[in-house]
Amino acid sequence: KPLLSLQDVHTHYRSRNGVVHAVKGVSFDVAPGESVGLVGESGCGKSTLSKTIVRLVASSAGKILLDGDDIAKLDGARLRPYRRRVQMIFQDPYASLNPRHTVAEILDAALLIHDVKDKTERRRRIEQIVDLVGLPQRALRSYPHQFSGGQRQRIGIARALVLKPALVICDEPVSALDVSVQAQILNLLVDLKREFGLSYLFISHDLSVVRYIADKVLVMNGGRIVDSGDHNSIWQNP
Ligand code: ADP
Ligand code: ADP
Repeated sequence: KPLLSLQDVHTHYRSRNGVVHAVKGVSFDVAPGESVGLVGESGCGKSTLSKTIVRLVASSAGKILLDGDDIAKLDGARLRPYRRRVQMIFQDPYASLNPRHTVAEILDAALLIHDVKDKTERRRRIEQIVDLVGLPQRALRSYPHQFSGGQRQRIGIARALVLKPALVICDEPVSALDVSVQAQILNLLVDLKREFGLSYLFISHDLSVVRYIADKVLVMNGGRIVDSGDHNSIWQNP
């Protein structure tokens, strides 16, 4: 059974200039432990699609099945348990890390939002995840601006993984990093996937990055999936 199954999903934006049909009937599955790459030019709808899956943006039609349950129309408390199962990692974690909070506070807040009430349990999970993403324990007392770009992405990864998600949506996670650091972060993501059996939806404009991490690649254009397959077949298509 797929972990995630999109069935004919559509997403519209309404603005002063009218309606933008950003996702036009997208269907695909992500199996447990599978890593799916999503490539396509800027403006083709990749971010909208990922925001639709985590329900930051509402879909206008279609089904979004997570563990077999349709979450497309759930909201509030009924959506909450599903929210934890799908976490996101962004291109620029700095933009989403509260600059006035220490790393410990950032991770603690993520756990609190998802109802991990026991303080000792939160502490234990925070100490574990910091090790797992390759940061020293003293990082817990530091603020986001005190870290390099690569270390900040490790914090972003820790914040996603401390919630023990099944699926992690990685939206251009290494695009803003120095080339030497990109490989370190990609290797970390591969290791974490192996360790926890995670699934990834890995969004990138860079097919060579996707090729490194994805079992299957989807090509998006004009709001639609126009091609899919393994990297070699994608590479060969004109
Ligand atoms: P990508 O992530 O592939 O660059 P996006 O999902 O950001 O693509 O954008 C898809 C389309 O939706 C584009 O035409 C973009 O201009 C439009 N769009 C994105 N966000 C909004 C928004 N908040 N309001 C209106 N249109 C939007
Ligand atoms: P524990 O009961 O110690 O939490 P687990 O085997 O569930 O035992 O997890 C050990 C640690 O591994 C967790 O604290 C967490 O940091 C990490 N972990 C477990 N499952 C996942 C997952 N699906 N995604 C990310 N990290 C996970």
